[in-house]
Amino acid sequence: MTSLPGSPWLQRQGAQLVLDGCSLDELATRFGTPLFVYSQRAMEDAAQRYLGALKGHPHLLCYAMKANSTLAVLQTFARLGLGFDIVSGGELLRALAAGASPDQIVFSGVGKTAPEISLALEHGVRCFNVESTPELERLAALARAAGRTARISLRVNPDVDAGTHPYISTGLKNNKFGIAHREAVAAYRRAAELEGLQVDGIDCHIGSQITQIEPYLDALDRLLDLVESVERAGITLHHVDIGGGLGITYDDETPPDASELIGRVLDRLRARGHGHRTLLMEPGRSLVGNAGVLLTEVQYLKHGEAKNFCIVDAAMNDLLRPAMYQAWMRVEACTESPGAEALTWDVVGPVCESGDWLARDRQLALQPGARLAILSAGAYGMSMASNYNSRGRAAEVMVRDGHSWLVRERENPAHLFAGERLLDTATLADSRGPAGY
Ligand SMILES: *Cc1c(COP(=O)(O)O)cnc(C)c1O
Repeated sequence: MTSLPGSPWLQRQGAQLVLDGCSLDELATRFGTPLFVYSQRAMEDAAQRYLGALKGHPHLLCYAMKANSTLAVLQTFARLGLGFDIVSGGELLRALAAGASPDQIVFSGVGKTAPEISLALEHGVRCFNVESTPELERLAALARAAGRTARISLRVNPDVDAGTHPYISTGLKNNKFGIAHREAVAAYRRAAELEGLQVDGIDCHIGSQITQIEPYLDALDRLLDLVESVERAGITLHHVDIGGGLGITYDDETPPDASELIGRVLDRLRARGHGHRTLLMEPGRSLVGNAGVLLTEVQYLKHGEAKNFCIVDAAMNDLLRPAMYQAWMRVEACTESPGAEALTWDVVGPVCESGDWLARDRQLALQPGARLAILSAGAYGMSMASNYNSRGRAAEVMVRDGHSWLVRERENPAHLFAGERLLDTATLADSRGPAGY
């Protein structure tokens, strides 16, 4: 019995790949493919690593649900007392449907629309992570109109040195996120004078799949410098939100454990005299990524002139990371066939795009009908799935200690066009007004 990289819950037992007591080949037979399978205990473990280290310090751990917004996943975290980081009205409704409490929800995103803001005000979310001054003005106006007060944090772009940390992609000057560091004090002054707003904290989010602690400490230092300037201007800040971004193991990455990261962050907060502030974190990938796999079945083996192609029934519409980010994801046979000859394959999907590949140049012993598992597919897998090529989205299964639950049915292609109209039955001009929530 051997554990696979990234998850002690995923093991090779004899020839079988097993996730927390469930044979993946058997799940593929029972539920069909493509199929996402998640280990609930792996998710709970990942959350406990954060919670354990935050214990004793005022905190709120908000799961960045865009990583995987399936209701059963959200419910798993809500039951552990986690809050949620949302980026749309749809995510708010999903989180509430899964049992989230609105006063543990923070609302991030550069493009919050008026209906989305109104919905969040109506439900009384804990904080709006505001990304620009025009957004501050819109939020204040909507809050006044609704007779509510919106608690806000400003997302500051810490502009952490790219030379030292080139992998950081969202905390630099030249991207769309956040308010520039040098404009932040003025933005806080504006927020403090706007009726309908209550300044509550400060936040940043410096990137994703970060495998070192130093960038977080650099960003934290920049935030604390600002906290000090803002408070000198007479505006009180209660919380510091350092965002998400902690990496996971896809291949041979060795990201720090969440508890180690938090230990260092709390040390820095205390060392700088900010130990009384509530710490918010918004992890996504690190809570779910290594907890999930995508199962797919080999359809055809095709020997091209330059390459061998293994054509499977999962595609870029199910798992976009390879096509979109050239991401490397580990591929394993669900059942190993010892003695079979291994060749080098490109694992590709049926979608009509050359970019539709899942893995390249992999040594695998294969035959048609065999099932493959794509590992570490729990984050930015199903939540980025689309219906491209009129493909229904995959089914999802949660496993725990040898038991399995179908938590999302396979999408029936007929559902995909159920909301469409042929021209002879379509409404000529829409009299219902703009879409809202
Ligand atoms: C995406 C995102 C996160 C989560 O990032 P991970 O890399 O998945 O941990 C957290 N906060 C904000 C604002 C985000 O946009």
